[in-house]
Amino acid sequence: MPFRDVVGHQAILTLLARATARGALPQSLIFSGPEGVGKRLAAVALAQALNCTRITAAGGTAADEFGAAADEAAEAGQLAIDACGECSACRRIAQGNHPDVLLLQPDMGIDAVRDAVETAGYRPFEGRRRVFVFDDADRMSGEIQNSLLKTLEEPPPSSSFVLVAGRPELLLPTVRSRCPMLRFGRLPMSDIERLLREREGLDAAHAHAAAVASDGSLGRALAEASADGELSRQLVEQVLHALRAARAPADRLRAAGLLLEPGEAKPAVRAKGKGKTANSRAASDRELLGQRLKALGATLRDLSVLASGAEERSLATDLSADVRSLVQQFDIDRLVASYSAVGRAQQALERNVSPKTVVDWLAFQL
Ligand SMILES: [Zn+2]
Repeated sequence: MPFRDVVGHQAILTLLARATARGALPQSLIFSGPEGVGKRLAAVALAQALNCTRITAAGGTAADEFGAAADEAAEAGQLAIDACGECSACRRIAQGNHPDVLLLQPDMGIDAVRDAVETAGYRPFEGRRRVFVFDDADRMSGEIQNSLLKTLEEPPPSSSFVLVAGRPELLLPTVRSRCPMLRFGRLPMSDIERLLREREGLDAAHAHAAAVASDGSLGRALAEASADGELSRQLVEQVLHALRAARAPADRLRAAGLLLEPGEAKPAVRAKGKGKTANSRAASDRELLGQRLKALGATLRDLSVLASGAEERSLATDLSADVRSLVQQFDIDRLVASYSAVGRAQQALERNVSPKTVVDWLAFQL
């Protein structure tokens, strides 16, 4: 996905394109900002701009004669340079199959990361630059981060590093101080709504509801827009109501067990063309429960906000009247405690605790 197809963040993308065109891109960068706003897509777009074989410049300037043209384009708010998105290099970068563009994940382990980063010293195999994108860099262990320090400080001449971080404050200060940070903001609701209509084929009402619930995150909007997202919301409502009434342990377990109900809902929305549904059915119990816990957490957070007497517009989700009525039965302490319990349940799930165990535990925490 070239720069021009990334939604929002025009100032940052303009800057990246200009720096790339002028050969003035800092070699180590942090892309920070909320989940799902396009940080990783921008990193991929950058890798494409650095390696596209048919790179195009503003006004049709040949790619090796930049300079003034790049500056002029940037001042006009245009991209000085952009990848074609179609050549073999662009396509393989988008698919994660280009030998010079590496996407590294925090769970790879230090040896794998070290081996990968060692290749930064090599000349690119076929492109112009080797690009290392560290996804969720803020979740990398301190040991891994430490092992990167020297490379980030003095990057080999033909390599670039992008650290993608939702919570950059969790990066080691020594890592942060070596890399200029570009902050990606939340996307305007109108952009998300338009994108859901134009690219995902949602009707106006669904696009609006999902955009409202998205909190400026396109990733979250897409999840909300899916049928599974709708089912999750309904189940969360049901679980909270059932738990409110349940006293006996068996009743509580049964109520919380609804969170593991398989996704059988009829798709609420259908994508344009292809006859493909906009939802991707959660592949496993674990993923499904992860999605449900996210919805439960979001609902509890908003209920806490309501209970604290904050204004309506500070709510991130579109709460139904039915859910709102729960504020009368759960006091704010219980809501806050429940919210933090959901956070712990999410962590347990990530640590591979079985979905059933997580749900059984949660039954007595809400
Ligand atoms: Zn290309």
